[in-house]
Amino acid sequence: MAKIENQQTVYCTFQDAPGHQYPGHPESPKRLTAIKAWLDNAPYPEMEWLDYEPARMGEVTLLHHQHVVDFVREESKKGAHEIEPSPSYVTRTSYQDALGAVGASLRVSRQILETGSGRGFAIVRPPGHHAEPDAPMGFCLFNNVAIAAADAVASGCSKVAIIDFDAHHGNGTQAAFWDTPEVGYFSSHEAGLYPGTGQVDDAPHARQRIINVPLPAFSGNAVFNTLMQEIIEPWISVFKPEMIFVSAGYDGHFSDPLTTLTLNTHGFFELTRRLVGLADTYCEGRMMFVLEGGYNMIALRDNIGASLAAMSGHDHFTDESGAGPGSLSDPGDLIEELKGYHNL
Ligand SMILES: [Zn+2]
Repeated sequence: MAKIENQQTVYCTFQDAPGHQYPGHPESPKRLTAIKAWLDNAPYPEMEWLDYEPARMGEVTLLHHQHVVDFVREESKKGAHEIEPSPSYVTRTSYQDALGAVGASLRVSRQILETGSGRGFAIVRPPGHHAEPDAPMGFCLFNNVAIAAADAVASGCSKVAIIDFDAHHGNGTQAAFWDTPEVGYFSSHEAGLYPGTGQVDDAPHARQRIINVPLPAFSGNAVFNTLMQEIIEPWISVFKPEMIFVSAGYDGHFSDPLTTLTLNTHGFFELTRRLVGLADTYCEGRMMFVLEGGYNMIALRDNIGASLAAMSGHDHFTDESGAGPGSLSDPGDLIEELKGYHNL
């Protein structure tokens, strides 16, 4: 099989948090069963597994108020129950699991920043991008990617960018960096879905720094190619981050039970390949993915595998789901609106 890219180490951590599960809830350890088996058998040789420790209190409070940490810890002690209506839940292990997901994300980001290059993927749950500084939300307890980005800034990065391609808007990440000029945030998401934020004009005070793209259903791979070319690449070239963080939610896949964005596995491969190129051009290669959503376990396995292939410089990956319906909508007007709004 062919190598198609330059070779860089891909630092990985994994946490499936088997104790964090709730009857009938889609955000379950079963999401990661298939990818766990695949990783055991067929990792790319460029991948390097890192051990990690649960995050310490002072790391979580880089982003979250102390009362949020106390709330998750105390609610977890009570055993399995819902803590807010989306619904987010906790179990007896959830506090430790949430600290573990943050710790695993920090391990990868710090490794990349300390070595000065490399790519990475924190394949973790519970996910994070809906968790706001003052409240858990949307299946998310602590905001893994936002804490890693805040830590990068605290450790001396002048600017970092977060690109969030999960099918839902990362309201928590947006709230975390609402007034933080060092952190840029781009989110593409399906219009009309949970949590309802993420309109083009959400953050008029932060044009060219907080970019929201509410996509029509059935946008598919083609729209993401256009977004990369027309919005993301021009934005990164002017924002000039030292590292790119990616909220990697794969619930935009056409088989996902929660959304209708209709990407396929090849689309996630191509998206990752282009993000790798972007990081190579503007950030000396520094880029990490943190897992967010994705609720069809076979598609999630293949989509994570496709992203790891692209990061590792390979072009072979498994794709059991096939092409899907493709791109059936044309958001040309939306792209033009965004270019005007953010002067890109
Ligand atoms: Zn999502």
